[in-house]
Amino acid sequence: MITIRDVHKRYSEHDVLNGIDLDIPHAATVTVIGPSGSGKSTLLRVIDVLEHADKGTIDFGDGPVDLATRDKTTIRDIRSRIGFVFQNYNLFANKTALQNVTEPLIYAQGKSRKEAETIGREQLDRVGLADFADRYPSTLSGGQQQRVGIARAIAAKPELLLLDEPTSALDPEMVGGVLEVIRQLASDGMTMLMVTHEMRFAREASDHVVFFEHGSIVEQGSASDIFDHPSQPRTAEFLQSFA
Ligand code: ADP
Ligand code: MG
Repeated sequence: MITIRDVHKRYSEHDVLNGIDLDIPHAATVTVIGPSGSGKSTLLRVIDVLEHADKGTIDFGDGPVDLATRDKTTIRDIRSRIGFVFQNYNLFANKTALQNVTEPLIYAQGKSRKEAETIGREQLDRVGLADFADRYPSTLSGGQQQRVGIARAIAAKPELLLLDEPTSALDPEMVGGVLEVIRQLASDGMTMLMVTHEMRFAREASDHVVFFEHGSIVEQGSASDIFDHPSQPRTAEFLQSFA
């Protein structure tokens, strides 16, 4: 189990995260849903220390680590245990699909180029892009670019994979292929914390669903608890907007 405790983040006068506690069981998919601007991306970014929390901890099972830390070694250690899939892929435009996957392995993990390329090809194969290793992002569809983004995020075998609306920038016909890759990761036992607006997918693929609003958890439970029997009127109202 990965535990996240009492995470706070404020921007100037604006409280964005108001003491978030989350439990992410090993090999589970935990999905965060909620309105735009509610702090979902900030939560993921703070967990990966792309932003500093004001307060809060993450515990991968070997003791709590301070998410407000400025210590570079600690930050590197947290990041080395997490993979991040961005909404807009964040690929390097001037590097091939393979280089996008291998570069972090070489520069952050200190692997040899040869070893990184072996891993990179395996991971591209895993997301169905074995034949696209030498292509540049601009020659790939959005769905293919996001699958490169996923291959990059999982290449270092993270203990936790964070996905921030991985399909929201895609044309509708590209969404299915990316969701299929995520489904496969779940069945391979990846531990995931995902933000999505794909309610059908959230319902089908999540072990646990969290409804988030104004930087706080309104309610959480199984997919059936949240989608079929929400206990909070705000959850029901939010879900209605997708019906
Ligand atoms: P969501 O992902 O749920 O749409 P975000 O986490 O992106 O929400 O944003 C939550 C709130 O925090 C918004 O009001 C947003 O304007 C604010 N915010 C996010 N990032 C920053 C930042 N770097 N500086 C100031 N405000 C920010
Ligand atoms: Mg967001």
